[in-house]
Amino acid sequence: MPIALISDIHSNIEALGVVLKDIEAQGIKEIYCLGDLVGYGPNPAEIVEHSMEWKITLMGNHDEAVIKEAYGFNPVAKQAVAWTRDQLRPGFLSGRSKKERWKVLCNLALTHTIDGALFVHGSPRDPTMEYILRSDCIDLTGGVPDKIRDIFSRFERLCFVGHTHDPGIITEESQFIAPKECHERWDFPAGKKFIVNIGSVGQPRDGDVRSCYAVYYGDRVEWRRVEYEYKTTMQKIFNTPQLDPRAGERLAHGR
Ligand code: ZN
Repeated sequence: MPIALISDIHSNIEALGVVLKDIEAQGIKEIYCLGDLVGYGPNPAEIVEHSMEWKITLMGNHDEAVIKEAYGFNPVAKQAVAWTRDQLRPGFLSGRSKKERWKVLCNLALTHTIDGALFVHGSPRDPTMEYILRSDCIDLTGGVPDKIRDIFSRFERLCFVGHTHDPGIITEESQFIAPKECHERWDFPAGKKFIVNIGSVGQPRDGDVRSCYAVYYGDRVEWRRVEYEYKTTMQKIFNTPQLDPRAGERLAHGR
């Protein structure tokens, strides 16, 4: 049974809406979210509400920052975390659905594993915070960098991540392959291990403004890109003084 893998929605309801429609149109019933429901964007409550329908939702660094503290965040992200917390944190007199959403956010799991496939927001070494970047794959001597080697030793077969908003495959030989370099599809031959970055629904950073997610078929992964009304999301961010306009501008560039 195929599983739709979504990540880094970042309170972008326009992007999530078209992605959920695309998932439904393919008849895919199971959705795993690899974290960062919130942060940067204007619709945090709606996204948390949607997540209650998904089979698995993991904790991202922005989700964690909202319920705890924004540690190691740049000013744009930090400001969004503070605003998001104001929107979501219930008071004594808050209604039941607000309290329910907060509880959901506080109880997100860090990792999930099925049949040798590990799912995590950042990395197996530090589930919410550590980035596995395409630049980490480069070693000037042509070997496999220690970081990549160590991360590969911490999962059985496949490791699905989000966090960098930069979709692609990392091989055991430390090669990074972007979806457009492999026809948006990668087969998993037996006996080989891979790290798979599924990209970002709500704030792509690979130069493509379209929303990105992936479908896992057990023996392969396929990435999908879906157009959404990013100008609407941008305008909402511009209309919210507590959110930095730069979080909106970048949506028009996919950076
Ligand atoms: Zn993110």
